[in-house]
Amino acid sequence: MRRLYGTFDHSLNRFTLVTLIVTLISGGTIYLPYAPSSPVPIGSQYYVGLTFAGFFVLVLALYFGWGPIQMARETECPKCHYKFSFFNVQKTLTNTASLSDEEVRNFKVKKVCEHCGFTDIFKKVEHHPYPTDDE
Ligand SMILES: [Zn+2]
Repeated sequence: MRRLYGTFDHSLNRFTLVTLIVTLISGGTIYLPYAPSSPVPIGSQYYVGLTFAGFFVLVLALYFGWGPIQMARETECPKCHYKFSFFNVQKTLTNTASLSDEEVRNFKVKKVCEHCGFTDIFKKVEHHPYPTDDE
């Protein structure tokens, strides 16, 4: 992202908009053969190619669009609002509880901003189901 924008402190609104448009176009391409009075009905010459292209673009949009958008949200510093800067540095197990079908683990997660040094501690709960024998 730094290569694209030169800074981490940028708005993702335009990037999100482009990703949304690409997602809608690819979704529409996949849906087109199923639409009534479609110019490309199922089984027609271009149906397979069109569907394939639609899925291809959709996967690209998910991978290069929504993935980084999600990551930008998760790594945005609450103080200086730099994106891709706020990371986990420490995860400490604070408590473990054994239930009948799962183990519940409580963690303290320490996150630090690489830009301004802002530190915050979050509580995190993980559920780990016990492996079952009847597989
Ligand atoms: Zn910060």
